Amino acid sequence: MTSFVNTVHTKTILVATQNEKKRVEIKEILKDVHGIVLRGQDYFPFLPEVEEDGTTFQENAVKKATILAKVCNTWAMADDSGLEIDALHGRPGVYSCRYAGNNATDEENRIKVLSELIGVPKKRRTARFVCAIALAGPYGLFFTVEGRCEGFITEESKGKYGFGYDPIFYVPDYHQTFAELNPFIKNKISHRANALMLFKEQIQPLILKI
Ligand code: IMP
Repeated sequence: MTSFVNTVHTKTILVATQNEKKRVEIKEILKDVHGIVLRGQDYFPFLPEVEEDGTTFQENAVKKATILAKVCNTWAMADDSGLEIDALHGRPGVYSCRYAGNNATDEENRIKVLSELIGVPKKRRTARFVCAIALAGPYGLFFTVEGRCEGFITEESKGKYGFGYDPIFYVPDYHQTFAELNPFIKNKISHRANALMLFKEQIQPLILKI
């Protein structure tokens, strides 16, 4: 029975990310979804560069997944994520990676955020990480999901783990920044983990239908 399922129903899914840590996290969370085989970008030669020029995380994820699924004639999943700060009207948002300029380092981006929040009291420093994931096939989009993780922006960087805005993102339930938190715990509560759990719920019935 298992070999029948593998032969007839197995779907190859291109995981459209260059980030090895993300690929590992995605594989771990989706490991018990039967009927799919996840492949990295290296498995598909000559992939086009897809510009992330959308105004929302979802737009960017959908654009990337639909273009790559069509070009590669396979299913493709793509994500986009970033930090939304209420006192900055949602910035850095889709510009999270390049907030302080196109080649900005993580530290430069954090410094820009902290300087824009000087004088903003703690209760108004609310923020969230958001992650959108889209799944598409060669003929179009199947679905999108969005995961969030709520917190506050600190007044200074704290912690040594993680990347990006982790040292200035404080999680009230754990009384620590993402960069102080054990990475194992971060990967359980993060925006990406939440989005991946929703992704798993949506892909399971889809696989059963094909
Ligand atoms: P991307 O979705 O990998 O393109 O991430 C865009 C940017 O959002 C990253 O370069 C980081 O600045 C920020 N970001 C996304 N997820 C995280 C996270 O888990 N921790 C810290 N920063 C993040």
